[in-house]
Amino acid sequence: MDMMDDNLHEECGVFGIFGHEDAAKLSYFALLSLQHRGQEAAGIVSVDDGSMYNHRGLGLLTDVFSGNEVEQLKGDAAIGHVRYSTAGSNTLQNAQPLTFGNIDGNLAIGHNGNLVNAHSLRVLLERQGSLFQSTSDTEVVAHLIARAGRGSLLESIHEAVRMIKGGFAFVFLSDTQLIALRDPFGLRPLAIGKLGDAYVVASESCAFETINAEFVRDVEPGETVVIDKDGLTSYPGTTRTQRAMCTFEHIYFARPDSDIDGWNVHSVRKDLGRILAREHGVEADIVIGVPDSSISAAAGYAEESHIPFEMGLVKNKYIARTFIQPSPEMRDAGVRMKLNAVRSVVEGKRVILIDDSIVRGTTSRRIVSLLRDAGATEVHVRISSPPYKNPCHYGIDTSAKKQLIAATHSLEEMRDEIGADTLSFLSVSELMTAFGFEPNTRYPFCNACFTGDYPTEVYETDKLQNESRKQGVTQ
Ligand code: AMP
Ligand code: SF4
Repeated sequence: MDMMDDNLHEECGVFGIFGHEDAAKLSYFALLSLQHRGQEAAGIVSVDDGSMYNHRGLGLLTDVFSGNEVEQLKGDAAIGHVRYSTAGSNTLQNAQPLTFGNIDGNLAIGHNGNLVNAHSLRVLLERQGSLFQSTSDTEVVAHLIARAGRGSLLESIHEAVRMIKGGFAFVFLSDTQLIALRDPFGLRPLAIGKLGDAYVVASESCAFETINAEFVRDVEPGETVVIDKDGLTSYPGTTRTQRAMCTFEHIYFARPDSDIDGWNVHSVRKDLGRILAREHGVEADIVIGVPDSSISAAAGYAEESHIPFEMGLVKNKYIARTFIQPSPEMRDAGVRMKLNAVRSVVEGKRVILIDDSIVRGTTSRRIVSLLRDAGATEVHVRISSPPYKNPCHYGIDTSAKKQLIAATHSLEEMRDEIGADTLSFLSVSELMTAFGFEPNTRYPFCNACFTGDYPTEVYETDKLQNESRKQGVTQ
């Protein structure tokens, strides 16, 4: 389920379209289906005959575009963005796409992910005289592009991208081109689609369904695609790297109807549930999933174990995020407002509760107590991922290391802390079998939050900065 707004979030969703007369309107619809990737700011920038039109704001897409703003965004090319932000930096300046003008024309940038060396680069750029308007990593990239001063925009972007490290998917819009690229490890997802003669790109393929576009393929790790009046041109990556797609997109973050790098998210989650049932089975009367992200895994567990799947928890979809204040009492009230245990379903039952992850342990603790209050006689918690022990530096923002319960507690201590009768997680090799990989082979995935084995270097100053930011807000 969604953490109750008391954690930091840096995940985002990006979209781009080139060559369609309804570019801005289609961007709006596509972004609606990417809203789960970020709910704190949204924006669309379009381009028409050398002029850029942009509208950005804080809040949900429907709040930001509540009037006729979309109609004002003229042109047949556009990019859009939905953003979670770090608390304290959720300002309009940081809402994306960011736009810049220079002698070569206009440039708009939308970015999903996190750079591990943004802080170091920013310090360097500031020392050399760059003036920053926002606190976002994206502006660092804009400065790098402006300073590259290469012959073409693409060359300048490539020069900038050579300097940045981390997990990223970018969409750039100039007066004449839509450029999209994915980091050399493929940490963050990015897919290409087609709508008539127009090309579209999006963080997740579910956006294509919404606008009736056809899925073409994923952008390859390190690849850049340039879309202009001549069509699509691909520039494969030049850095040799080991593919390391984020497994957490599949476990928790992405929408179940998206396909990422050839795997359907719902099917992967269902398989994770099946593996849990096979490897970590327990006797019980019903299986329930924490809505929404754990329903697929719970269905898989139930199918494999032949224990009935039940709707033991119901989520209220209409709780405004602003109601949920960052104090422990209000968070607790928040969980109760957002989730109900169904007494007639769970009363007198031994329950298997499936959740996709435990980060700080707060959600599981509250849900186990909701179920017991509703009369469950036993609660067995099964998690469809390995213990989350290390902070993510690539854009899935959870907590500082010392707040991650699995980093500081043994399995038995965690079980005790959340009040479950039994608790089990998947191992990394079990997780990998859901993608068809034999145990202990070289996996083309990032599992760093479980293993501590980060695919990129992690820069100490940036890491410390990140950690203190996370602690400052989540404590
Ligand atoms: P916690 O209460 O910190 O243990 O959070 C775990 C719950 O939050 C699980 O139910 C997950 O589905 C959900 N979750 C995991 N990662 C994130 C994230 N990055 N943002 C929001 N919710 C998350
Ligand atoms: Fe995804 Fe975890 Fe890697 Fe972050 S560390 S990119 S959440 S797998």
